[in-house]
Amino acid sequence: MARTFDIAKMTALDAETLAQIRSLAYEIFNRSSQTRAKQIDTLISNVIYHREVIQDNDLFAASVAVFFDSAFSCILSQKVLRKSELYNFFVILNHLPVLESSSFYAEALQILAPFFRSDPSLIKLFDRLQLLCVYIMIGYFDAAQEIAAELEGKVSAKHLCFYAMYQLSKYQLHSAASEVAYMLKLLLDLATQVCDQDGPEATLYLITHWLFSLKWFKSSKYYKALLYNLYEDIHQQKGLNAAMIGYELYSLDDKQVSPPEKMRYYQDLIQYQDYILNSRQLHSLHFFAGNYLSGVQKEFRASIQSFKASNYYLHKCWERLIGISKYMRLHSNPNNYKLGMNYLDEQFMQLSNQTSLRNNSYVENLQMNFDKIEELYKEVGELSLTDSLTGQRNRRFMDNNLLQMIALAARHNAPVCFAIMDIDYFKEINDTFGHLAGDSILAELGKMLSKEFRQSDIIIRYGGDEFLLVLFDTEPKSCKIILQNFCNKIDKYPFKYKRKKIHITLSIGGWCETLCKTYQLHELEDLISKADLALYKAKEAGRNSVNILF
Ligand code: GH3
Ligand code: MG
Repeated sequence: MARTFDIAKMTALDAETLAQIRSLAYEIFNRSSQTRAKQIDTLISNVIYHREVIQDNDLFAASVAVFFDSAFSCILSQKVLRKSELYNFFVILNHLPVLESSSFYAEALQILAPFFRSDPSLIKLFDRLQLLCVYIMIGYFDAAQEIAAELEGKVSAKHLCFYAMYQLSKYQLHSAASEVAYMLKLLLDLATQVCDQDGPEATLYLITHWLFSLKWFKSSKYYKALLYNLYEDIHQQKGLNAAMIGYELYSLDDKQVSPPEKMRYYQDLIQYQDYILNSRQLHSLHFFAGNYLSGVQKEFRASIQSFKASNYYLHKCWERLIGISKYMRLHSNPNNYKLGMNYLDEQFMQLSNQTSLRNNSYVENLQMNFDKIEELYKEVGELSLTDSLTGQRNRRFMDNNLLQMIALAARHNAPVCFAIMDIDYFKEINDTFGHLAGDSILAELGKMLSKEFRQSDIIIRYGGDEFLLVLFDTEPKSCKIILQNFCNKIDKYPFKYKRKKIHITLSIGGWCETLCKTYQLHELEDLISKADLALYKAKEAGRNSVNILF
């Protein structure tokens, strides 16, 4: 696989060292390796030796980077034999504790139910493991140690999911205590076991835990390169691993990943099924996008959308903290609960800060885009005068604008024709072909009207299947011809809905008059009712006809 970053070339390692590291990685992650246990020990002692004896950060980081790069290639080259239960299960770890109030609850139940059905004692075990993870999450390691000790020997590798959850928690406890040798041994043993029993996706998930927890200091270029290559390889699958790697890239500082680049990760990540990332991650992504888009100023509406989404997830974060507080009250003893509250306090503070940050950005954004808001208002105004189905003016337009146009015509003594057009037996069309077919006919008729009549003529959707046409500066005779032509055209026109041909006809009644004074709204209505009467006659005369009075 050609990769964007050639990690080996970025390092100053000689060919022999590179080959040694590569072979170490391949031996460890190769399913048929005989020397795996020995290689794991070699790796761990090399890491310890570099950390404690050589202490050359760049050389150390370079070796670790090459190791990861080779390990990823080796893991990714393995065939996925079946859909991984374990990988599916790992999504849960991004949402702990799983709360009934959370939107992820239904997904979690679906993932957990088969395990619980096969062995109901796993429910209790999951409860304890979950509490263990929560204590680790809030940094309360003493209480976590107690649960870890209580569960020692009780989590069988037969249930790989729960076993992995337990081992990962112990990994984090070792990591918190800086017990590097223990933590590496534990993670590599687990990852290789998973590599053999489950598959590459779950193995990769475990190994990236180690990758994420490393401190790269000045060698962060390796970190970005590793994440970038890996993301390129797997992002199309849109699975948990890709989401975690993409989010990690997005979270790097702006010097390493520029804001436009972060936007690309954002756009990619929000397309994932929304339970893969948790509410905190989604809030952060949308908040970033809201700020970014308001900064580039062209994307006002998109920025508002993103702020709205970030607001939504911020609320979810609040709900979640409240849920965690309830969870701790139910599952912890009073002392642990009290200590847990410190963590929650801190989280509440962070959320409040984010809320005010978001509010500030939101207001700045509004100010900067005031002109655009005005434009939007105009557009909304326009929309409120338009009927959404047919695209023609609605009755509100009559009250506001038609009187003005009539007054103008009256000043110039221009003839005006008011015509009402109504579809014949439209109820039957709906009954025979369905209401959606009826809608599509109305929409198409709306389009045809726009094409057939002058731009200066007014077309209003007057009722369900009725249109009011106001034709300016047209003599009664021409009116009759124009309207009759339209009527004939519709009679011949094959409307179609879902490949079925539908025939309709129109009846049109009109009233023509040369106006000479200013009209009030009720007088306008009188003129229209004359057209209505003419329509009534056209219907009575057998429909599919035009009746113009003047
Ligand atoms: P007539 O020849 O006497 O006009 O018969 P008609 O069945 O067309 O009767 P009328 O004009 O009184 O009824 C209009 C029907 O149009 C009633 C309703 O079922 C239908 N309609 C009204 N608005 C809509 C709409 O937005 N969509 C659809 N599909 N049908 C509508
Ligand atoms: Mg009708």
